[in-house]
Amino acid sequence: MTGTGTDLADPRLRALQQYVRAEAPALRAAARELDRHPDGSTLYPKTALLDRLATLQIPREYAPDPLILDGEEFHLLSATERVVFHEEAAAHGDASLLLAAPGSLTAGMLVASLGDGAQQERFFTSLQSSPTWTFLAMTEPQGGSDATALRTTLEAAPDGEGFLLNGTKRFIGNAHRARTGVVTVRTGPGPLGIRCALVDTAAPGFTASPLATLGMRGVLGSMAFEQVRVPAEDLLGSHLPPTRRGMWGWLHSFNLLRCVAAALAVGLARATHDYLAGHVAPARLGPLAARIHRVRALTHEAARAVDADPATAVLPAAAKTAAASLAEAVTAGALELLGPGARLDHPLLDKWARDAHGFDPMEGTAHIQALTVFPSLQR
Ligand SMILES: Cc1cc2nc3c(=O)[nH]c(=O)nc-3n(C[C@H](O)[C@H](O)[C@H](O)COP(=O)(O)OP(=O)(O)OC[C@H]3O[C@@H](n4cnc5c(N)ncnc54)[C@H](O)[C@@H]3O)c2cc1C
Repeated sequence: MTGTGTDLADPRLRALQQYVRAEAPALRAAARELDRHPDGSTLYPKTALLDRLATLQIPREYAPDPLILDGEEFHLLSATERVVFHEEAAAHGDASLLLAAPGSLTAGMLVASLGDGAQQERFFTSLQSSPTWTFLAMTEPQGGSDATALRTTLEAAPDGEGFLLNGTKRFIGNAHRARTGVVTVRTGPGPLGIRCALVDTAAPGFTASPLATLGMRGVLGSMAFEQVRVPAEDLLGSHLPPTRRGMWGWLHSFNLLRCVAAALAVGLARATHDYLAGHVAPARLGPLAARIHRVRALTHEAARAVDADPATAVLPAAAKTAAASLAEAVTAGALELLGPGARLDHPLLDKWARDAHGFDPMEGTAHIQALTVFPSLQR
């Protein structure tokens, strides 16, 4: 037992938890460095744990080098394993550094669900042989909650050589660092006209820049596409029936991604609680610990539900909402408990309190999650 992070009962998951717990403390100094230099002047501070993460979360057939612990292989593909990894890394390291980490988390899920064999092989083998940052670009400057209102277009090139991409995206994780990623685009009218394309950031007409934010600094960027040429083989989903080429492919991915976002927020709340334990009387922490335990249990339940049925939407939406609100409440409560001047005297808490506000918009705001959760409560 460590603070609010009870050792897991399952021996396989406990081995993963203990591995991450031992490696994660190195993330703290790296995260402070990124918080101080978010504009890319320090491109990204390296740590052994995140270097290892960069070649995990990749389908088994393209991942010859899994993590091996106690003789067991970990590819970090299930929601449960991803939740354990991310929660523990945030609890003993730093949540926002994980969001700025190289690897395939979000883009990889879309390529795995929408890519044909050749697209998957190209994307994942390139990430294995030369690990890098990737992105999933959906949100646009006029709003991200309604993903169907996107304006970025992908049109057949007049010379018949593939497509031309035009538009802008905003609030995109690792936009300014990535070598490749997935962009949601409109190829025609209506819901069937929404598709996803692989985009190479070295292509002429692609520009990206870091976004200045108060919390989760160094994570987000904006991108613009001006007549960016996209080869025909980089449009995802063409081998699938028309109804499954676009939104259907990402809907299931979001159930898992919401569990991961919830795990990061729970981890941040745990980190805050454990930090406070060194500064205030244990009796004052009881209510905080109880709330963290409840939301943590909900997050693990949501992950198990997604592993049993990837279409499970209600529990991940509820867990993500509860965890985002938990992270905000625990960090604000910590600053209050430590009294006036706490932000100056405890810079780590100041950082976490700023970071905590990033969880509500990420993977859809609480308002949007409520649209999923409330109908399930009606009888
Ligand atoms: C840390 C972080 C990481 C992110 N990473 C990515 C990423 O990698 N890729 C990506 O594409 N995006 C990413 N985002 C963007 C995120 O998905 C959007 O911020 C989110 O979808 C909300 O969109 P918006 O900010 O444009 O708000 P808007 O959609 O403009 O919404 C504004 C307000 O209106 C409310 N609202 C909107 N529609 C409704 C409705 N129907 N009912 C009730 N209320 C409503 C919202 O809750 C919100 O309060 C990230 C955001 C953060 C903070």
